This record gives sequence, structure tokens and C-alpha cells, in this order.
Amino acid sequence: MHKNIAVIPGDGIGPEVMKQALKVLKHIGNTFNHQFNLSECLAGGAAIDRDGIPLPSETLEICKNADAVLLGALGGPKWDHLDGKNRPERALLILRKELELFANLRPAILFPALKDACPLKPSLVENGMNLMVVRELTGGIYFGDQEKLKDSNGKEAAYDTMYYHEDEIRRIAKIAFEMALKRKKKVLSVDKANVLESSRLWRKIMIEVAADYPGVTLEHMYIDNAAMQLIRDPNQFDVIATGNMFGDILSDEASMITGSIGLLPSASLDANQKGMFEPIHGSAPDIAGQGKANPLAMILSTAMMLKASFDLSEEADRIEKAVEHVLNSGYRTEDIYSEGTTLVSTESMGERVLDAVNSM
Ligand code: NAD
Repeated sequence: MHKNIAVIPGDGIGPEVMKQALKVLKHIGNTFNHQFNLSECLAGGAAIDRDGIPLPSETLEICKNADAVLLGALGGPKWDHLDGKNRPERALLILRKELELFANLRPAILFPALKDACPLKPSLVENGMNLMVVRELTGGIYFGDQEKLKDSNGKEAAYDTMYYHEDEIRRIAKIAFEMALKRKKKVLSVDKANVLESSRLWRKIMIEVAADYPGVTLEHMYIDNAAMQLIRDPNQFDVIATGNMFGDILSDEASMITGSIGLLPSASLDANQKGMFEPIHGSAPDIAGQGKANPLAMILSTAMMLKASFDLSEEADRIEKAVEHVLNSGYRTEDIYSEGTTLVSTESMGERVLDAVNSM
């Protein structure tokens, strides 16, 4: 397979974790005979320092022409004084819009070796946890009409509108079902169809799309129940498909169950499963340049890219298993360190994963 990948290391710990992830990716390419052409480009603070803007047109072009984008993290205190449209994080919003990345995928993976980091009762996560939240990212209440008003007595009021078009629901539903095909073949659609008209449409379209995926089971749950079930028994879930606001809340709840920000990858996909893949953490300026950053979220982001965008499940599984092996062997960066485990640097963690990939 031949793929062009845009690589944006970014700011803070971004370049440090990206270096480790690319080592692993290149090795996978060699082992499985794939040609991954990596085009490194600037965005965020690094681009502001060079060009004065967070997303140079050259970077946008490279990303548009690539088959996938890998991103470290953008931002940091050096650029905090800049106003909204000139801030490093602005590059992310432009990229999402220009690349039409409407589907946000956030796996919440709790490796059994790290179950002490989970705030739930150990018996609930004895064998770890592995679920995927598929969140609609460019519609719903965050993008509907909104207004601040004053009534005739001068008192303030405001409204937001939750609007979904059937095409918006259909395209996110397809992403969720496609994702379920590569996992345990279960989709849970989360809505508030007992109250909201937009949720009733959401549910109707989910059922229609499910007809094209006879191998996948579709179930429905109201958002309030889903929020409760997620902490009652997180292992009942495989793929959770939901709208923008419910997904925002549920994906944070799910990531908290795993206990560590340095471990979680994410993807934002377009209609053709092309996507941008990045850790959920930021640029962590407090530990940048000290060899303390956990590179596993970035390494797992490359695995997500292989599976979600390139359909290379075997290669992705190899990386995920290698990460699990390294954790089972007791190696930890500082953020996940506990007594009795072995503390390693960013570089050394990357090397351990590479060794594990190599020996499988
Ligand atoms: P952060 O995620 O960078 O850091 C939060 C805490 O988690 C810090 O204590 C940090 O040291 C730790 N941490 C984060 N990633 C880690 C890793 N891989 N290994 C070990 N520890 C890790 O969030 P923040 O401090 O709120 O933001 C810092 C900067 O990052 C800000 O400029 C923010 O705007 C930006 N940011 C960027 C993105 C992105 O690029 N997608 C996302 C979030 C925040």
C-alpha cells in the first residue's frame, strides 16, 4: 500500500511524542511492505514563529492532498497573549473545517495493567475496557441558531437550537457502523428521543442506516441512562454513536474512566474515512523538553489511522498489542508511574514499543 501522510509535530511535547510514533509507523511500513510518504509541516505556535500565522497555506495544501494527517499538539504559553484568530489552536479549527472532518472518534481504552488508574471499582474493569465514542462534530446545538434576547421588562433570555439534517445523521451513522464492523459489531445510538424532535429524527435515520449493516446490532439509549450505564458497567459498550453535545459529554466521561490523558488517541474523519489523528492531550508545556511525555497516545493515534483510514487492521492490532505488552511488562512514563513499576523516558518508552512490535 502507498499512502501520503501529512505530519504536524506541533508545539511543546508534540514533536517529542511524534518522533516516537513515527519510529513505530516506519517500522510497521517496512515490516508489512507499505510505503508511507511522510510530509512534515508546520502549524500552531511553530508556524506563528516562522510565518506569523497559525496555519500556513502550504500546510493546508499538504493536508488536503494527503491520505491522512497526524498531529502532535498545538499551543503553549508563549502564544497565549495572541487574540482568538491568531492563536495556535485556530489551526485545528481551520483544518477540521477545510477537511470536512465531521466525525470525532474517541476510543476509551483501559489496559488491564493500568486498572489502578481507573476511578471505578476494580471488579467493573477486571479485564480492562475498550469502547469507542463516535461523536458528530459539525452540527447539532453547537452550530444551530442562537440568540441573546431581552423581554419587555428588560430581563435577559437566550436560546440555542438543536438542528439535525437527515444527511448529517446518515453520514455519522455510516462511520459508526463501519467502525463497529472492525470491532465487536455493536452500535449503541444515544439520544433523547423521549423529549427532542431532533433525537426522534436521529433515531429514525440510525434505524434506516442499520438496514445496510445486517451484521451489526443496533440498540438505543437515552443520554441520561447512557451517562449512568457508562459508570455502572462500561464493558457493555462497543461503539457509541451520538450527536455533538451528548458526545462531548460522554467522551469526556469515558476518557476519565481510563484515568490517563497520556494514553488516549482520537480521530476526526470525513465522509471517505480520511482523517486527522491526534492524542487527546495538549502540548503539556509544563513537561516539554524534559523527556517525561508519554508517547503512547500519539503511537496509538497512528494505529487508529492505520485502522480507520487505511483499513490496515492487522498492522494497527500489532501496535496496540505492543503497547499493551509494554504496559504489562511494567514500563511507565511519569504520568502513569506507580510503585513497583519501571520509570522510563519518552524516548525509552518509544524504544520499548518498537522492540515489542518487532518481536511479535
Ligand atoms: P495538556 O493536555 O497539555 O496538559 C494537561 C496536563 O496533562 C499537564 O499536567 C500535562 O503535563 C499532562 N499531560 C498531557 N499530555 C501528557 C503526556 N502525553 N504525557 C504526560 N503528561 C501529559 O492541557 P493544558 O495544559 O490545558 O494545555 C496546554 C496547551 O495545549 C494549551 O496551549 C492548550 O490550548 C493546548 N491544547 C492543545 C490541544 C491540541 O492540540 N489538540 C488540545 C488540548 C490543549
